[in-house]
Amino acid sequence: MKKIAAIEAGGTKFICGIGNENGEILDKTSIPTKTPEETMKMVIDYFKDKEFEAMGIGCFGPIDPVKGSESYGYITKTPKPHWSDYDIVGELKKHFDVPMEFDTDVNSAALGESLWGAGQGLSSVVYITVGTGIGAGAVINGKMLQGLTHPEMGHIFVKRDKNDPYTGKCPFHKDCLEGLAAGPAIEERWGDKAYNLEERNEVWEMEAYYLSQALVNYILILSPQKIIMGGGVMKQSHLFPLIRKMVRETLNGYVHKKEILEDIDNYIVYPGLKENAGLMGSVALGRLALENR
Ligand code: ADP
Ligand code: ZN
Repeated sequence: MKKIAAIEAGGTKFICGIGNENGEILDKTSIPTKTPEETMKMVIDYFKDKEFEAMGIGCFGPIDPVKGSESYGYITKTPKPHWSDYDIVGELKKHFDVPMEFDTDVNSAALGESLWGAGQGLSSVVYITVGTGIGAGAVINGKMLQGLTHPEMGHIFVKRDKNDPYTGKCPFHKDCLEGLAAGPAIEERWGDKAYNLEERNEVWEMEAYYLSQALVNYILILSPQKIIMGGGVMKQSHLFPLIRKMVRETLNGYVHKKEILEDIDNYIVYPGLKENAGLMGSVALGRLALENR
């Protein structure tokens, strides 16, 4: 069984681990995201004595995941201090001479879920994370979605709730989906930590209103066979029935498939890989690197 090095590079921590081709995690560790110099030194130290034949890097964005592009392998214009224009793949290549695949954390999570998680056996799935930010990735016909660059489905525009005066928190667009519905937006709008707002129905009705619109757009544009929703905010599991109901109401029978009309509880779901969805996604990327070798 071939071993794979996996990195889930996040804005607060880098989860690094060793997995295998079957998607089993053999070892893992968590490294805080400080400056690239500090964090990458710890990442390289972790992997340097380990055996592996490929590496997968699922990374917070924006990044350039398009092979052949000038800035391939870079974290590009991130608002995250110190990490803008950082050649993360280039740095790893200096230390590890193995095939690598690099994509967004959410594209790779979609790939991992389609291989080993809630999307097992399906060729088209969308993965959305609702946490500090909102990001969504997709595997369509077995391949992660890429084009000019990677999709930015967390920054789409949604109709405002008429009872929502909040201006929005996205530094680029103010009231895009992320600006209205990521964890920090919920907390600023309602003035409390998201987990303290559990009992307040109006909070989650509004949240579900925004997220369900995003899902409807994903369904209409990408036609996924399943939508997987992870991230800290989705730990509020009562959001799921609200979102499913609103998605059905908004589509209004137009997408005439039993997955939506009769079995939506199995169509919009929590990650099958639970808390490991991110790291397993990177293992899946490493597996792809072996295949593409
Ligand atoms: P990240 O996006 O940084 O990888 P998370 O997915 O854990 O991390 O998202 C963190 C955000 O999720 C926090 O800003 C907080 O608003 C929200 N969050 C975390 N836990 C909960 C919870 N139990 N209920 C609701 N919101 C939560
Ligand atoms: Zn935005």
